[in-house]
Amino acid sequence: MSIFDKTRAMFHLPDGVIYLDGNSLGPLPHHAQDRVDEMIRDQWGEMLITGWNKAGWMEQPSRVGDRIGRLVGAEAGHVVMGDTLSIKVYQALASALEMQPGRKVIVSDTGNFPSDLYMAEGLIRSLDKGLSLKLVDPDAIEHALDESVAILMLTQVDYRTGRMHDMADLTRRAHEKGIVTVWDLAHSAGAVPVNLAEVGADFAVGCSYKYLNSGPGGPAFIYVAPRHANEVTPALSGWLGHESPFAFDLSYRAASGVERMRVGTPPVIQLAALEAALDVWDHVDMDTVRARAIDLSELFIAEVERTCPDLVLVSPRDADRRGSQVSFSHPEGYAIMQALIAQKVIGDFRAPDILRFGITPLYIGEQDILTAASTLHRIMEDGLWDRDAYRVRARVT
Ligand SMILES: *Cc1c(COP(=O)(O)O)cnc(C)c1O
Repeated sequence: MSIFDKTRAMFHLPDGVIYLDGNSLGPLPHHAQDRVDEMIRDQWGEMLITGWNKAGWMEQPSRVGDRIGRLVGAEAGHVVMGDTLSIKVYQALASALEMQPGRKVIVSDTGNFPSDLYMAEGLIRSLDKGLSLKLVDPDAIEHALDESVAILMLTQVDYRTGRMHDMADLTRRAHEKGIVTVWDLAHSAGAVPVNLAEVGADFAVGCSYKYLNSGPGGPAFIYVAPRHANEVTPALSGWLGHESPFAFDLSYRAASGVERMRVGTPPVIQLAALEAALDVWDHVDMDTVRARAIDLSELFIAEVERTCPDLVLVSPRDADRRGSQVSFSHPEGYAIMQALIAQKVIGDFRAPDILRFGITPLYIGEQDILTAASTLHRIMEDGLWDRDAYRVRARVT
């Protein structure tokens, strides 16, 4: 039995479904369900308020953070869980800006996820210090880095195309100009090997409900480099980031290290699901998953290009420059994706014309890739997508 047969058996997937959307919402690990049931019954149900001490709910954000930290090459004790990713982006950015009092520009790219950019806009407005957000083409970042730039804020893997930045190279170039980096690992954590300590990243944030399978609404993580962790003053200075929350002091004193990035009460049930979901990584390492994801992605690209000439690959052809997803464009992309979903092959659509497929070896194998490609071929060949019902846009695409 291969290691991937073993990991696949750890997930629940509905009968007949080929799930190529784990880049957006990971599937349910069986033992996450068991662990959550148990947590609700034995901890919440029986322990009530004493669960905070008895069941270790208060330490859970750092305990789980450390396990994710190992997947992204963080130093132990420098990752903490909580809130949504948008909030964590705001927090990291606010702290990074505070370290750069004389500088006024935040550089990001046009491939970044809009929420990250919106959070930057909102923060700039509240600070009212004449800061600006400069968006450049993803290929032109190095030319935008000069001494006026305070922060380089990037998402490593582009959510639409899967194009992947060279994190080590850009971090080094940024540091040469005295720029602080904020990396969003939403489509990296659990998808591609990352080594935050080695590249010398300053701040990093990321998602748990995508490739880490914590379930809808699972909390985000934040990393602060050890050299900054006791220097930053959190903008969202909530009581659980206080040095002594239960002293109920009238003014804020930051907790030591990354704990200060906690804000309020952690989502204990969701963290129980995440903690269980992370057990899969006790059986397989990131490099093995990455190698397999590349093989499966190459196979999918080859099959789709061979059989669906109207679909245009928009992901980088070079596997080293691509995350763990493959995207194609087509003017009728939305309808094609709905037709595919109707045949139980689930990917998703990103405006204006992108069909997106997450390649996740933990529960997707070669046969799934071949079946997905042949289903797509049939839909294209027979024009099965050409129905009004498939053009009706749902609220979530
Ligand atoms: C998925 C994703 C988000 C989502 O943020 P939430 O606050 O968790 O909804 C933000 N940024 C990036 C880059 C993402 O990929």
